[in-house]
Amino acid sequence: MEPRSQTALSIVIPCYNEADVLPLLHDRLTQALEKLGSPWEVVLVDDGSRDATFALLCAMHARDARFKIIGLSRNFGHQAALSAGLAHATGEAVAVMDADLQDPPEILTDCLAKLREGFDVVYAVRRKRKENLLKRGAYALFYRLLKLVAEVEIPLDSGDFCVMSRRFADVLRQIPERNVFLRGLRAWSGFRQTGVEYERSARAAGQTKYPFTKLLKLAMDGVFAFSTVPLRLATWLGFGAVGLSLCAGLFIIGWRLAGFRFMGHTAQELPGWAAVVGVALFFGGIQLVLLGIMGEYLGRIYTEVKHRPRWVVRQALGVRAAQDPTSSANNS
Ligand code: UDP
Ligand code: MG
Repeated sequence: MEPRSQTALSIVIPCYNEADVLPLLHDRLTQALEKLGSPWEVVLVDDGSRDATFALLCAMHARDARFKIIGLSRNFGHQAALSAGLAHATGEAVAVMDADLQDPPEILTDCLAKLREGFDVVYAVRRKRKENLLKRGAYALFYRLLKLVAEVEIPLDSGDFCVMSRRFADVLRQIPERNVFLRGLRAWSGFRQTGVEYERSARAAGQTKYPFTKLLKLAMDGVFAFSTVPLRLATWLGFGAVGLSLCAGLFIIGWRLAGFRFMGHTAQELPGWAAVVGVALFFGGIQLVLLGIMGEYLGRIYTEVKHRPRWVVRQALGVRAAQDPTSSANNS
């Protein structure tokens, strides 16, 4: 049996150009963690920042060695940075949160209490968001759409912010998927899970690091990684089209036989070109959409089979640098 870790709680935080918020984060986090009364560590992952983030993180580590720093070799993206952090966390419990203090560290106490009750995952559910209406609407729509099509039940309005047990974190970090959608994988992994509600505050400082394009990529990873419903769309639309054309055929036969006027014409005058063009365009469009959907899956299969590491560590402070354990490049 492996010796039990000395660290009771690890907190994994990905940081991308977060120089503005780091001093605030450090103070609030330290304050909240000291109240726990057990040994903790914070694993801060610098996701290839271009500002002073890494320098600030190094200074944090120099002052307090419980802040461990992983510097990635470039910007790999939020989900990859999270995976990197998980691979380096050693605590008996592991928490994941954002750097911008939208996830209040104070609720960790409640989360840990739930873990002690026997849950393996305690995720935070956003009761209220202090973000603009458009973003809130988009999130609400996305989570509901995902619930409709996903093959595992991903709790509504839960983000990545959570605390998990050691055994759960071990399961999670060994999942070798390249297109990571952490909250989906978390739901997929099972065990006993529960949510705690909280109010999501606004970002404490700096700008969002999730422009619309990155958010869309994350949303698509969520849908395509946890559902094959879009692929089956072709079958349904195909059946629909067959049904429609049967109805149209019956109608045309009736039109010819009964000789009534439809849109001012009898069938004999054959004014059908508009309908023909319309139908051709309609099915051309459907085919392109479906081809695109297949492309999305194909592209993801391509990324998966390449088996490249999800992240590369450039430098680590306070922990031994590890490379992605799930990539074949590191297994051979
Ligand atoms: N982040 C990251 N890499 C990226 C983009 C974001 O590590 O490429 C981190 C960022 O520093 C923050 C977290 O992911 O800790 C969430 O980002 P942000 O708060 O900007 O997203 P939002 O809350 O606006 O959706
Ligand atoms: Mg944020």
